[in-house]
Amino acid sequence: MSQLDLSGCKKRKRGERVFKFKVFGERGYPAEFNGSTFQENVRALLEYGQVESGVCGAMASWSFQLEVRRHPLLHLFLFVVEEPIELSLELRCKHCQYIGWGHHMICNKKYHFLLPSKSGSAEYCKSNVIELQGEGHSLHAVFHSNGFGHLLCINGSESGSDLPGYQIMEFWDRLCSGLGARKVSLKDVAKKKGMDLRLLHAVALR
Ligand SMILES: [Zn+2]
Ligand SMILES: [Zn+2]
Ligand SMILES: [Zn+2]
Repeated sequence: MSQLDLSGCKKRKRGERVFKFKVFGERGYPAEFNGSTFQENVRALLEYGQVESGVCGAMASWSFQLEVRRHPLLHLFLFVVEEPIELSLELRCKHCQYIGWGHHMICNKKYHFLLPSKSGSAEYCKSNVIELQGEGHSLHAVFHSNGFGHLLCINGSESGSDLPGYQIMEFWDRLCSGLGARKVSLKDVAKKKGMDLRLLHAVALR
């Protein structure tokens, strides 16, 4: 019953919207996702987010409170962090370089999508900081503004997450299709985590 403890978290406001985890990313949940480009769809989605300040340095960020289940109550937070090129640590994307996508290695903006592993815990709220380089995420993916992206990590309950890996994959799958992602590289996520390759490939080939 102690899954959700936001008492120490001043930032969460009463009346903040809660979205259903299981449908998040489907048409109408919460955005219509009928934009003609990835960027349009991201913008439409962010309209529904709670604007955060200071969770990731000077970068603009948003959060979405997601209800996974009611009994026992489990809420997670999805964070989206916009990384403008001026604040980027590296001009060229090393993930694009790795996969051989040289033609769009430099872009104006990247969007990080993160599900922290223990986002509902008091410990998380105390720091209220998103570690973009860290490994402690249930899900961490980054998209370039042109819709090309990289799935950087998926950690299921085996690795201390609140969710089993397949639920995170399904969530990721919905997000990719909702946003109209064009191509997503997987690097060695699958090998490392022993994920279901059929699922991963289905997403990658969209
Ligand atoms: Zn890249
Ligand atoms: Zn790019
Ligand atoms: Zn990560």
